[in-house]
Amino acid sequence: MATHKLLLLPGDGIGPEVMGQVEQIVSWFGKQGLASFEIEKGLVGGAAYDAHKQAISEGDMKLAEAADAVLFGAVGGPKWADVPYQHRPEAGLLRLRKDLGLFANLRPAICYPALASASSLKPEVVEGLDILIVRELTGGVYFGEPKEIVTLEDGQKRGVDTQLYTTGEIERICRVAFELARTRRNKVSSAEKHNVMKTGVLWKQTVTALHAAEYKDVELEHVLADNCAMQLVRWPKQYDVIVCDNLFGDILSDVAAMLTGSLGMLPSASLGAEDPATGKRKALYEPVHGSAPDIAGKGLANPIAMIGSFAMALRYSFNAGEAADRLEGAIADVLGSGTRTKDIAAPGANAVSTSEMGQAIIGALEARG
Ligand code: NAD
Repeated sequence: MATHKLLLLPGDGIGPEVMGQVEQIVSWFGKQGLASFEIEKGLVGGAAYDAHKQAISEGDMKLAEAADAVLFGAVGGPKWADVPYQHRPEAGLLRLRKDLGLFANLRPAICYPALASASSLKPEVVEGLDILIVRELTGGVYFGEPKEIVTLEDGQKRGVDTQLYTTGEIERICRVAFELARTRRNKVSSAEKHNVMKTGVLWKQTVTALHAAEYKDVELEHVLADNCAMQLVRWPKQYDVIVCDNLFGDILSDVAAMLTGSLGMLPSASLGAEDPATGKRKALYEPVHGSAPDIAGKGLANPIAMIGSFAMALRYSFNAGEAADRLEGAIADVLGSGTRTKDIAAPGANAVSTSEMGQAIIGALEARG
């Protein structure tokens, strides 16, 4: 059995609390002989600043480079509000994304049947929802130059951001989307604004050409990004994989997130390019939520987003789809039995702690045999 190198970066606030539950699940998989892991631990965010005066140390960056996957908790909090800008907790995450070349952000939006009533939409609209948003993460308007605020001759100011994409950048993210669609329901919806943006025109041309050359077996549809936002709240089950640029992906993935109920439920993955020699990709898995200083240290955090992020690592980094199915199935079983942390419990209903939820999921894994 291959041994997978896993780097755990719990971070700040509720990060270490939810990561603690994942550690127990990782060790459960190891003990059952279902997978073998070599685990390293490091510091990131405020915790790294306190120890090293930087948001991630060079030593921990080396561990991240060497790992098959990084599991990241969350960073930030009021304690570090006044640290120098370049050392703020978020700088650790940005450095990891940049240095590992993590250009593809995957955000599944899965609505467990037991939580359909927790969504702000009608249960029939979201029950059984399983969509995946593939967002380009390292290009587009968040990074394009010029990016500035200038003062004009008449005294007004002008803010400029630049939306830039090359065919290479579009092809590599769309390739990830087509490959993933082949493992799911085989449909890709490409969202852009070719009606008003040149990058949208190039995006549509490039994805159409790539589809014709390499992915004819996958169904491809084009959708304007604004229409996609509307369709996501009208009838989200029409989608399988949605692929989009950095800006539209930021917005569409937050819309999709709310379909499922709580921030504490949402995992994500960020992947780099495939190494042609090994077929492996650099990868970082993290919950969508932040460090939640308001509930940190109280045992209230829902660990499911973090545990779901480990399930994604099993699927996308360790080629262990069956183990991922089993873990996601155990989460569904626990939710189906009515076990809830406070964020997903009905007002006034009994809620379990972070560690009780972790234990319940291990219990459900065992019950699945
Ligand atoms: P947040 O995601 O930390 O919290 C938003 C709300 O959701 C809070 O009420 C919190 O209690 C709740 N919540 C979040 N995760 C939860 C969980 N697992 N279980 C139960 N409830 C949960 O966002 P915020 O309050 O805007 O930011 C807090 C800090 O986190 C800030 O310093 C921010 O910069 C940082 N942050 C970090 C990341 C990251 O590490 N990737 C992402 C977002 C925010």
